[in-house]
Amino acid sequence: MQKLNRRNFIRSLTALPAMAMAPAMLLQGRNPASSLAENKARIKNDPMETAPNYLSLHKRGELKIRGEILWEKMRSCNLCPRDCGTDRISLQRGDCRASAELEISSASAHFGEEAELVGSRGSGTIFFTNCSLLCVFCINYEISHLGQGRTYGIGHLANMMLLLQRNGCHNINLVTPSHYVPHILLALDQAAARGLRLPVVYNTCGWEKTDVLELLDGVVDIYLADFKYADAQAAGKYSPGAHCYPEVTEKAMIEMHRQVGVAETDPETNLIYKGLMIRHLVMPGNVARSDRVVRWIANNLPKNTYLNIMSQYTPMYKAFNYPEISRHITRSEYNNVVSTARRAGLTNLRLQMQ
Ligand code: SF4
Repeated sequence: MQKLNRRNFIRSLTALPAMAMAPAMLLQGRNPASSLAENKARIKNDPMETAPNYLSLHKRGELKIRGEILWEKMRSCNLCPRDCGTDRISLQRGDCRASAELEISSASAHFGEEAELVGSRGSGTIFFTNCSLLCVFCINYEISHLGQGRTYGIGHLANMMLLLQRNGCHNINLVTPSHYVPHILLALDQAAARGLRLPVVYNTCGWEKTDVLELLDGVVDIYLADFKYADAQAAGKYSPGAHCYPEVTEKAMIEMHRQVGVAETDPETNLIYKGLMIRHLVMPGNVARSDRVVRWIANNLPKNTYLNIMSQYTPMYKAFNYPEISRHITRSEYNNVVSTARRAGLTNLRLQMQ
């Protein structure tokens, strides 16, 4: 198999013109040329969008260095807690099904995320193909499990970020980023040099190694992190092989909070521009032990930690192989979690079914 030299790989893929590389959906209904002046003025006038975390690291040359450090980890990959040791640089695919080639499913303004990220112009969402956690009930299984997406270069990714900014999005929302974190930092470095100013949202399953997170200190503005399970057996069953999920994710939550703190909302725009936002999906029969999840958050993070308690669990993909999770949740199952969170003292809850 052909060895992938990082420098050649990046050079070859950044030589293409920006518009030719953009996914078609980015451009639908927009005229980027005509909206450029309008959005430059908006970004200049919007204090939230003038000083993202990564700019000072870019100016010091450190963003690129960190990207290169992370790139080296792909030689015997240990970027996620699976530590599968795959030589991704030789284009072998790891347990997450990713090689060193960057695969992306879509990039567009997305209006289905939390209101504090969506605002009026949408969250600039980039969906990465493949996944390290591989939940059997994944709602995006075509992308995460089945590899839906196309191969792009690091320059393409930088261009996508810049196009999302030009199209007026409020942030760059990196969905399932963990296995492509080297590519992301190198692309951010290029995009920052070319005028990217939007906050970066790291939209993760929460199963993150702290040594990798430490390299994201000063890069990520908003961590949008799942806390899926507080039960190791359930984690290993529904995300095969991820028995260590509760232990790893607890440490990750502490580290993410250390870096960005409690989520901060701009009082004028109601948009979150910095901080930790946690999501917890309530599962049927309390298999994930939601009670323990919310109590852990209350006991280990500030009581005003942002927590979105989500009710939309829908059995998908392989969930039907597990009778106990092959149904929606009930109203009372959801309300039990909300009551437990309130009794534990959590004050910054986002609720759905009630
Ligand atoms: S990111 Fe993928 S290749 Fe790397 S350790 Fe995790 S599963 Fe293995």
